[in-house]
Amino acid sequence: MKFGGTSVADIDRIRNVAHHVKREVDAGHEVAVVVSAMSGATDQLVKWCEQSLKRRHIFDAREYDAVVASGEQVTAGLLAIALQDLDVNARSWQGWQLPIETSEAHGSARIVDVDGEALVRRFKERNEVAVIAGFQGVHPQTGRITTLGRGGSDTSAVAIAAAIRADRCDIYTDVDGVYTTDPRVVPRARRLERIAFEEMLELASLGAKVMQVRSVELGMVNNVRIFVRSSFDPPDKIDPHGNPPGTLICDEGEIMEQQTVTGIAFSRDEAQISVRQVLDKPGVAAALFGPLAEANINVDMIVQNVSSDGKTTDITFTVPAGDYQRALDVIAKAKRAIGYVRLDGATDVAKISVIGIGMRSHAGVAAQAFKALAERSVNIRAITTSEIKFSLLIDAAFTELAVRTLHSLYGLDKAA
Ligand code: ADP
Ligand code: ASP
Ligand code: MG
Repeated sequence: MKFGGTSVADIDRIRNVAHHVKREVDAGHEVAVVVSAMSGATDQLVKWCEQSLKRRHIFDAREYDAVVASGEQVTAGLLAIALQDLDVNARSWQGWQLPIETSEAHGSARIVDVDGEALVRRFKERNEVAVIAGFQGVHPQTGRITTLGRGGSDTSAVAIAAAIRADRCDIYTDVDGVYTTDPRVVPRARRLERIAFEEMLELASLGAKVMQVRSVELGMVNNVRIFVRSSFDPPDKIDPHGNPPGTLICDEGEIMEQQTVTGIAFSRDEAQISVRQVLDKPGVAAALFGPLAEANINVDMIVQNVSSDGKTTDITFTVPAGDYQRALDVIAKAKRAIGYVRLDGATDVAKISVIGIGMRSHAGVAAQAFKALAERSVNIRAITTSEIKFSLLIDAAFTELAVRTLHSLYGLDKAA
């Protein structure tokens, strides 16, 4: 059972979470619990780190992790106390105590190994519920605290579920499942009963923040069935042996009725860069994208035209908005090697992505979108496609219009 930030936002909600846990324990289930920091706590900790440092180039990611991991320590302890108050035997665990071993990549560490044996044994021997601080781990060689990247408690939960060979990993959050698109933006979004790992992976990578991308990857690799559900449903109204509302993230084979389009994701967290009048000759793309890769900048959509005169062309691509300035600097530095005339960019862009396994066997899905957006005068700046998704880059001002248009177009709206 994993509970996200909004679900543990204050003491009343933590006590509410304790009732959810007690219900499952009383029903005879063996459970382990993972918690996030109280809503807003991690943002505050990140801000304090930023405010403490004026000379950015000496930023120490190990100390950043020591600070930001503390939010989860608080909730784990508080939930253990709230459980004890309900006569449920419980104890908190920090990442280093379990241990949850990770790589050394501070701020975005990967889980390498989790020892789940103690958790299982302690539950069997003394009915003790483990309340584990999400988002954090330890690098075994240096002994230092690491964190898994924002939203990382989802990944802690799936990794622990795999380690204790849980039947299911329940992700309790502030929505009652995975929707066809963000329900905060499109009120007519529909809850999905089931979604395939691959589709959820695309949805999460392309902007739907309901699950951290790595948690879905881990679920897929270890075949952990993930159930997304609401912590706001009253704990005592739920039948612990029944079928509560929620979305099962599972293997494709478990899904009977496959729609062509399953969901729509969007991200305003993009920036567009256009390199004008580069020579149309071998080696130019390497001269441009090589230095960006070395600087660890993720390049996403790439568009290059065939030149009409055989001499020069333009290359347009996108990077995460947070890397925009750095990318421009890297390219400017490599100007001589690349040999371009002008560098343009825009940060007021958004990427809209349409996802569905059914696209594998249906042609013309994207063409419908081009037509519908054209009718609403939404200009498309760049397009990429792959087997089960396509993405469109548009002006950020049209994000909601475009998402709503495509949501209706592919029959995803719930009945009014
Ligand atoms: P938690 O704090 O529990 O980890 P998050 O805020 O990380 O919760 O994720 C839940 C939020 O994800 C929802 O409130 C919702 O606004 C957002 N979201 C984005 N896309 C979707 C989607 N397709 N389905 C459900 N929720 C989504
Ligand atoms: N507290 C961390 C964050 O806000 C991890 C999480 O909530 O999943 O990113
Ligand atoms: Mg989250």
